[in-house]
Amino acid sequence: ATPLAIMVGTGRGAQLGVLVKGPEALEDTREVTTIVLDKTGTVTEGRMTLVASETPGLTPEQADVLLDSAASVEARSEHPIAQAIAAARPARVPVKGFRAIPGSGVVATVKGAGADGANAEVHVGSRRLFDEVPEVLEQAAHAAEGEGRTAVLVGRSPVAAGGLGMGGLAVRTPLVAEALLVVSDAVKPTSAEAVRAFRELGLDVVLLTGDNSRAAQAVADEVGISRVIAEVLPGDKADVVRTLQAEGARVAMVGDGINDAPALAQADLGLAVGTGTDVAREASDLTIVSGDLRAAADAIALSRRTLGTIR
Ligand code: ADP
Ligand code: MG
Repeated sequence: ATPLAIMVGTGRGAQLGVLVKGPEALEDTREVTTIVLDKTGTVTEGRMTLVASETPGLTPEQADVLLDSAASVEARSEHPIAQAIAAARPARVPVKGFRAIPGSGVVATVKGAGADGANAEVHVGSRRLFDEVPEVLEQAAHAAEGEGRTAVLVGRSPVAAGGLGMGGLAVRTPLVAEALLVVSDAVKPTSAEAVRAFRELGLDVVLLTGDNSRAAQAVADEVGISRVIAEVLPGDKADVVRTLQAEGARVAMVGDGINDAPALAQADLGLAVGTGTDVAREASDLTIVSGDLRAAADAIALSRRTLGTIR
């Protein structure tokens, strides 16, 4: 590209609400064939709220103990799901030994969380954390996911220190889900139009998320995306981009989270959502200042026109 092309491109880019890191970024923008969109915080607003909870078989008092325990554990996590749960239930119980399991959930020891008032480990997260999910919770989770919502399960286990059984073998009781929390996150009002614009540019559009497939599919249907890659662990998002590249695609990736940074760096063109994390911005070539994905389509259209005419 000539210096003029860069000036024109970056000037209009700024008007569209796109920050361009360097001249090469425009060249890469022009050649993109596939655009991969992160779900939470990119296609959706990324501001979750707790919309329902189910605690089958528990008395109201038992349910409060379990859900306040879950909220107290989530108060230690920065995940948008955690923030929704912690905000909805402000009562706090003492918590220690907090651990996050990336892409799955959180666990900690909570004072008095056991059914008998003993301390217990409280687990909050996706299905993959649990050994057993009772049918009634499974069905309620399916129904919520079918509407694009995220189902979060809660369960408890005895504190590990008491877990040495006969013959010195650690005995682990199966972890059973006892409660369901449903969190909801609205799709951005401009996302469907942005997807339409990407398709008009001839791009393949892919939705990529760590969330459940059913919830991801519901969001994809709402905005008109036909290809969904869901239940991807944070460390595996970059591999998905690499696989698409190995199939011959020139990949643009749009993301907002710390989780997305390796995939943004791996992509031929990384686009950060300006409302997201610094880490995502640093790993990207372009930043969509407002988070409106239509600006990404404008940037691709513009780079094709600008670089196409000047050279
Ligand atoms: P995304 O790709 O949407 O940013 P993540 O990889 O961060 O998703 O998380 C994937 C899934 O792991 C979530 O949809 C949720 O089921 C579960 N999860 C992760 N962190 C938490 C948490 N703090 N509390 C509850 N569930 C969680
Ligand atoms: Mg995200």
